[in-house]
Amino acid sequence: MGLLDIVPAGVITGDDVKKLFDYAQEKKFAIPAINCTSSSTVNAALEAARDQKTPLIIQFSNGGAAFYAGKGIDNKDQHASILGSIAGAYHVRAVAKHYGVPVVLHSDHCAKELLPWLDGMLSADEAYFKEHGEPLFSSHMIDLSADPKEENISTTKKYFERCAPMKLWLEMEIGITGGEEDGVNNESADKDALYTPSEDVYEVYQALSPIAPYFSIAAAFGNVHGVYKPGNVVLRPELLEQHQKFVKDKIGSESNHPLYLVFHGGSGSTEEEIQTAVSNGVVKMNVDTDTQYAYLAGVRDFVLENQPRLMTQVGDQSKGPDDESPNKKYYDPRNWIRHGEKTMYKRVQQANSDLGNVNTL
Ligand SMILES: [Zn+2]
Repeated sequence: MGLLDIVPAGVITGDDVKKLFDYAQEKKFAIPAINCTSSSTVNAALEAARDQKTPLIIQFSNGGAAFYAGKGIDNKDQHASILGSIAGAYHVRAVAKHYGVPVVLHSDHCAKELLPWLDGMLSADEAYFKEHGEPLFSSHMIDLSADPKEENISTTKKYFERCAPMKLWLEMEIGITGGEEDGVNNESADKDALYTPSEDVYEVYQALSPIAPYFSIAAAFGNVHGVYKPGNVVLRPELLEQHQKFVKDKIGSESNHPLYLVFHGGSGSTEEEIQTAVSNGVVKMNVDTDTQYAYLAGVRDFVLENQPRLMTQVGDQSKGPDDESPNKKYYDPRNWIRHGEKTMYKRVQQANSDLGNVNTL
């Protein structure tokens, strides 16, 4: 039975998300979560998934959501981030099913000072639920990993209780992802804090599992956001197997992978590290930095190659000052932006390949 016999195309929620992640664990692949900041980047990711016949996770970061709404809108009290994530969600909902692939619609890291953003999205989920019987989003991430562990777990639990009646998925983080992302800087974090102990992962499981099964854990195993010179921090994806075994033994689970795990800060990881993570029950891997760069590459190369056509509205400068051919088809954003979409498309497909997520429908 294929994935599309189990879940429908388009945005999926609740039990369908769980079915997707169970299917991924069983077939030993993970799904890339592509950070998107515009309808253009959403479409590029969807097109890549469609052509490779794979499920997809689309996610909006806090800053990415604000950009989606427009930088001209004031983000006081998270106003723009709330608006932008909702606008993005409606765009994805409108087009996703026409690409024929299941899509998990997700919001990325939400730290303590950004909680009004999560509150705003949850209000939108509740309103959508009233009308359609499912939340607007498939899932959200809460990330209180910078706060004391007890506070992280108890606040996460409180939010999970709000999500549960809608079968809304919640991803949480325990332990610290190094580096810098979206204004959260952990570049000087204590190295030990970059590896989450199994006891902490189990503590999260104990707090959340009595409420609902719809949660995943981003446990730190030396992950770093962004791309840095190698050698600074050692990635240890084999630790994830220890967490799975620890929880399995504690709860007497029949499954070797009782946890749904998430891989953050994976840009620049080796194929082997990614495969070890996936074989240890990682179902989602975040991809942001690499697709940002890929999107630029297409636009950059187009502009550099066509520079003589882009300096004026009329005239190819390489043909001399008297040339009068129109340049409209060069500066039309549908042309140069499309080049960015094409290079991003390729990078999304590479992420799929790395994660074993090819022809998985
Ligand atoms: Zn992350």
